[in-house]
Amino acid sequence: MDETSLPKLLFSSLALDPKILRAIEETGYTEPTPIQAQAIPHVIAGRDLMAMAQTGTGKTAAFTLPMLQRLLPHASSSASPARHPIRALILAPTRELAIQVHENVVTYSKHVPLRTTVVYGGTDIKAQKPALMGGVEILVATPGRLLDHVESKNLQLNQVQVLILDEADRMLDMGFMPDLKRILALLPKQRQTLLFSATFSEDIKKLAQEFLVDPVTVETARRNAAGENIKQSVLMVEQHDKFHAMVELIRSRDVKQVLIFTRTKLSAAHVAKQLERSGIPSDAIHGDKTQQERIKALDAFKAGTILALTATDVAARGLDIDQLPLVINFELPMHAEDYVHRIGRTGRAGALGEAISLIDSDEVRRLVEIEKLLNRKFERVQAPASTAQSNYHKPLKAAPSRSPTHSSHAHHGHKSAPVDDWFSKPYEPSAATPKAAEARPSAPAPNKPQRQVAALFRSKS
Ligand code: AMP
Repeated sequence: MDETSLPKLLFSSLALDPKILRAIEETGYTEPTPIQAQAIPHVIAGRDLMAMAQTGTGKTAAFTLPMLQRLLPHASSSASPARHPIRALILAPTRELAIQVHENVVTYSKHVPLRTTVVYGGTDIKAQKPALMGGVEILVATPGRLLDHVESKNLQLNQVQVLILDEADRMLDMGFMPDLKRILALLPKQRQTLLFSATFSEDIKKLAQEFLVDPVTVETARRNAAGENIKQSVLMVEQHDKFHAMVELIRSRDVKQVLIFTRTKLSAAHVAKQLERSGIPSDAIHGDKTQQERIKALDAFKAGTILALTATDVAARGLDIDQLPLVINFELPMHAEDYVHRIGRTGRAGALGEAISLIDSDEVRRLVEIEKLLNRKFERVQAPASTAQSNYHKPLKAAPSRSPTHSSHAHHGHKSAPVDDWFSKPYEPSAATPKAAEARPSAPAPNKPQRQVAALFRSKS
C-alpha cells in the first residue's frame, strides 16, 4: 500500500487504553507511523499478523502497544509469582535487539502493572534467574538463551498467549530455525502469533504457513530503501586510502556521531583502534566482544562519550540510536540487503540522515548489486588518488597506543595523529582515471568535478 495514501490517524483512535496512550504521549510521538497504523487494529482484534517492516519504521511499538492492550486484563498488582506467568514472548535474533525491544516495552508499559524482563546469551545465566522466578508477563529473549532457561526450569511457556518473532528473517539467517521449532513446540497451540520481518523470503513464508493461522499481511513501503530521508553518496577510494578519507570526512564536517560499518570483526576492531589513534574517540562492537563490552560501547556512543562506533552487520542489526546523523560504510556488505539495514540506522522515524559508502575498485560489483536492489544508480564521486601514507595500514608509532577494548571514555588531552593534507589541497583530476569509464559500472570510477568532492568534505566554518 502507498503510505502517503493512508489517512492521518491519531493514537487515540486506535482503541488503546489511556494508560498506554499516556506513555506514548510522554515519548513525544504525535501520530502512529504507517506500520503502527496498519498493524495495531489487527493485533488488538486478536489476529495473527505477518508484517514486513524494517528497523526504523516504528515496528517495535507496532507490536508492543497492541500486545500491552491485549494483556491489560491480566495486569495484576499481586506479589505472587504465580499471578505473573509469561503471557507474551518476544523473540529477537541478537542481544542488542533484545535489549532495545525490552527498553521499548519498559517505556510503553510504565503506567500499567505488567512486568517485563529480557534474557540473552553471553552473560551469566544465574543473574537472569531471579527476575524470571519472580514472575513476568512479558519476556523478551534471544532463542538460545531462552532454551537454556527452559532446560534449567527457570521458566514455563505454557501460558503464552502472544508470540512475537522480531526480525524473523535475520533469525533464520543466523540459523535459529531449530531453536525456533523447539520453542514453538513448548507454546500453547491457542495463541496469537506476530511475525515481523524486513523481507518476505520463501523461508519466511514457509515459517508463517507453519506457525501462523490465517494471518493478516501488512507491508510498509521500504522507506529506508527508497531512502527519501537518507542522503546516500558513494566515494570511490582505494582501500589503502579509505581510512584517511574517512578521517577527513569526519573532521571536515565536524561530525558529532558516526556509525561505521566494516565487513569483518577484525576490520571493525582495527578501524576503531586507528580512529582512537587519530584522536577520534571510538569503540567497536562485533561478535568477539563480550556482552558487557558491547553494552558499554553502545551506551558510550549514545551518550556522546565516543564519537565513532564501528560495527559489523550482525552486531549492528536493529540498533536504534536516536537522531544518528551519519553512517559510513567503510566496506560494503557481502549481501546487498545488508546495505539497506545499515543505512536504516540513520534517518529514522522521519528524521534526516546521511550515508556515505567508501568503495574501492574491488567493491564495484557489490555496489552494482546494491543499485539493482534499490533500483537507482549512485553518482561515483572520485576521491583524488592519495600520495600520502595511509594511517590505516601502518600503525602510527608516534600516537599513543590504546587498546580498543578500553578505548572509550576519557579523551581529554588526547593528541591527534598527523593526517596528511591531500583533501585540503585544490582538486586535481587524476591523470590515471580514464574518462570513457563513466558508462561502465564495473570500470574504474570516472572523474567528478570538485564540487561533488567538496559536498562530501565540507570545510568547517
Ligand atoms: P523501530 O522501528 O521500532 O526500531 O523504531 C524506530 C524509531 O522510531 C525509534 O527510535 C522509536 O522510538 C521511534 N518511533 C516509534 N514510533 C514512533 C512514532 N509514532 N512517532 C515518532 N517516532 C516513533
